[in-house]
Amino acid sequence: MDPLDEDLAGMPTLDERIKFTWTRRLFEAHLERDLDGEYDPEVLLAIRAQGTAEAIAALAAELVFASPDRRAGIAATRLSEPVHAHEIEQLHRELQMLDAPQDLVDVVTRSIPRWRWQDQQPDACQLRVHPLIKCDPDRWSLPAGWIGVVNELNQDLFDAIGPYDVGAVGQKLNRLRYQAVPAGGFTDANRGIVTELRDRAIEASRRTCSYCGRHRDDADPYTDRCTEHPLSTHPTHVRARLPGWR
Ligand SMILES: [Zn+2]
Repeated sequence: MDPLDEDLAGMPTLDERIKFTWTRRLFEAHLERDLDGEYDPEVLLAIRAQGTAEAIAALAAELVFASPDRRAGIAATRLSEPVHAHEIEQLHRELQMLDAPQDLVDVVTRSIPRWRWQDQQPDACQLRVHPLIKCDPDRWSLPAGWIGVVNELNQDLFDAIGPYDVGAVGQKLNRLRYQAVPAGGFTDANRGIVTELRDRAIEASRRTCSYCGRHRDDADPYTDRCTEHPLSTHPTHVRARLPGWR
């Protein structure tokens, strides 16, 4: 076996396999065409698309040829890290071409994570979180649409109390949840300021779609989505990438 195939076999998720296959095909193109340094962007895109298609086709084949009792386990592992929306469509097309049985298609559908990173869902908000916001990755679950609200809150907090840490960030009862802890700890003076600024941001999140970031006029308390992105048609939760990502 090619040592690179062994490396690939050791990677559990489709996302890792796609990226590894890109790099591998790019390297091969580099050797074959003797391209030095400069790549035509279109050539790069084509190589990327080829690597993606190859990794997805390999997963479809792996699932079809696996014994039925192992399919759910394989799908759950490979799709444990969310992948781009169009890559899921491509996986379904590959399964169709291989004439996959309906129960396998259902297994794959059930294994697709209910959330994606913002860059994996093109119609979601694509702003970037301020890179200096400090939060433990395990406590980070910010809906992409509220990045603008959080960046503004971060600026206001920093101006008012200086450096601080974020204990947790996410969504609670369809509103922003943001725990800010001043670097020197809470004092009588800063506690009120933190509460006031945070409450203002929570109120702003109530009027902002958690998916696309656009202003909501209705501010219906039973949802955090605008009328264009209701949960009934856009069920995927889209998370902001961590501060400093890429
Ligand atoms: Zn929206």
